[in-house]
Amino acid sequence: MLNILVCVKQVPDVNLVKIDPVTGSLIRKGVPAILNPLDANALEAAVRVKERVGGTVTVITMGPDQAEEALRECLAAGADRAVLLSDRAFANADTLATSYVIVTAARLLGEFDLIFCGKESLDGATGQMASQLAERFDASQLSSVLSLPEIDEEDKTVTAERELAGGVETAQALMPCLMTVEKANYRPRIPNLKSWKASRRAEILRYNSATIPGLDPAQIGDPGSPTKVPRTYPPEKGAGGEMIRTGSAAKDVEALLGRIADKL
Ligand SMILES: Cc1cc2nc3c(=O)[nH]c(=O)nc-3n(C[C@H](O)[C@H](O)[C@H](O)COP(=O)(O)OP(=O)(O)OC[C@H]3O[C@@H](n4cnc5c(N)ncnc54)[C@H](O)[C@@H]3O)c2cc1C
Repeated sequence: MLNILVCVKQVPDVNLVKIDPVTGSLIRKGVPAILNPLDANALEAAVRVKERVGGTVTVITMGPDQAEEALRECLAAGADRAVLLSDRAFANADTLATSYVIVTAARLLGEFDLIFCGKESLDGATGQMASQLAERFDASQLSSVLSLPEIDEEDKTVTAERELAGGVETAQALMPCLMTVEKANYRPRIPNLKSWKASRRAEILRYNSATIPGLDPAQIGDPGSPTKVPRTYPPEKGAGGEMIRTGSAAKDVEALLGRIADKL
């Protein structure tokens, strides 16, 4: 029976997020928060592996209290247990501090054979978390996994197809193994009403900085985060283009050449 962990992040719907031009901070007010879409793929892979070979799927997130909603979404989609790591002391964490808190807390939950992550988040999008988690878990790593992994519990191996720039490779790694999921060749399931209702009532395990034994205050939140973001700003817009539409391709070209000649 496999012990499977899925790391998920609740993110603002970036299509709706704007940057305040004065303060340079993200305007999150009124913007719905969603489960990071690649994490939904990661969860689906984990749940399908569990359904095929047996095991338990735990989802974990570090985030503010409202990240509980993302965990309930995961419970509705097949996770067995959900863990929220939330504390003001965790705020302003970069990936180093976030991976430290997640792995220290995950050790309280047991030893994990498989860990699934999205390749990157929609908002922070550093793509650094998975490698840091793999290092801290002392796990091997398969990145950009496309297919559902094949598990050999006897040999303790995981075999999966990985996407490369110009093709696909089949790779094998030893368990414990962390996999990052990007595009998947399967779709995340849509929960039915019964599992959605059950997810509303399910217990969420909660930890804060005081209830994770041995957590070093110097390695969490702002003090534990060497990455600082001095400025955030929207990309500067160019001068804008001009459409030449005279109705005749020959005249369009003539007009274009005229504009270019004017600039020379
Ligand atoms: C109180 C509080 C406030 C926070 N506020 C913000 C904020 O305003 N903006 C922000 O970007 N982050 C915030 N975080 C979360 C944390 O700082 C980031 O999640 C972390 O730095 C990851 O960076 P990334 O998004 O670039 O990860 P990436 O490396 O791009 O993420 C790759 C994968 O790692 C996993 N992952 C990423 N983050 C988490 C997480 N938090 N928990 C579990 N799995 C995760 C997911 O599987 C994800 O697909 C907050 C955390 C707390 C506790």
